[in-house]
Amino acid sequence: MYQAIIKEIPEQVRPLFNQGKVADYIPALGKVSPMKFAMAAKAVSGEIYYAGEVDEKFSLQSISKAFAMILAIRMLGDDLWQKVGRSLSARAFNSISQIEEYGGRPRNPFTNGGAIAIVDLLLTHDVHYLESLLILVRKLTGNRKIDYDRSVAKSEKEFGHRNAAIAYFLKSYGILKNQVEDVLDAYFVQCSLAMSCNDLSRSLLFLANRGVDPKNETVVLTPQQNRHLNALLMMFGTYDGAGDFVFRIGLPGKSGVGGGIAVIVPGKMVIAVWSPALDEFGTSVAGLKALEIFIEKGDLGIF
Ligand code: GLU
Repeated sequence: MYQAIIKEIPEQVRPLFNQGKVADYIPALGKVSPMKFAMAAKAVSGEIYYAGEVDEKFSLQSISKAFAMILAIRMLGDDLWQKVGRSLSARAFNSISQIEEYGGRPRNPFTNGGAIAIVDLLLTHDVHYLESLLILVRKLTGNRKIDYDRSVAKSEKEFGHRNAAIAYFLKSYGILKNQVEDVLDAYFVQCSLAMSCNDLSRSLLFLANRGVDPKNETVVLTPQQNRHLNALLMMFGTYDGAGDFVFRIGLPGKSGVGGGIAVIVPGKMVIAVWSPALDEFGTSVAGLKALEIFIEKGDLGIF
């Protein structure tokens, strides 16, 4: 039944492809066609349902922050919360004024400031952080070809003045330990992780299965850590768009300005969707609609 629902979705959301805007503040992303679309749902039981270009890679951007958080939760435990909060952000993901308003402490780990602070913590604990992240992601996807897209990282660095401002601002508050340039470089490379909807839906499946990867029974997170990460994704995964996202989707999820969204359906599946044109919160317009249709018709809500 899920395959019958999903295969109709590209046609249903096509009118929305031109309603958002591709993220051209990172020039390398601005070149991607807004007509691209893919959706893949990987079930805990092993089935996969799909529509569109599910094997085409796209830039994960902020979805990479979910993978960084797996390492941060495992490596740092509660120490993590010394540098970032667990509060909703009512401002844009790259707001600077919000950091000042709250005394230099990023509101949560998924705003740009929060994610930059997490990268700093990870670099402090592991000088080979970017390699560790790649090893984790390759293991979770089961795809050894997953890699960073250095041209996207370079493009973001060249035009990433706002993120640089955020990082220097955090440094001035004593939130960052490492050199600002090193933290920023690692953050841009992390955001440049590229993979397909197929890969993405597989990689996060443990989040729908109490922290255990159902493909090979590996424990990725303990049940408690898994509950925490799902909660963080539900509350903060779509920034100041989270209210609308939770109202329409009602499940944990993470967006990225590359146009991808990953959604966790506890106990059942992970849905990955990709459509590059974004709304004002940096979330894919057609992707969000596609998720809404699939969850509604598939009766996948948890409430
Ligand atoms: N690399 C992007 C930035 O820092 C990530 C934002 C996102 O995907 O939401 O602006």
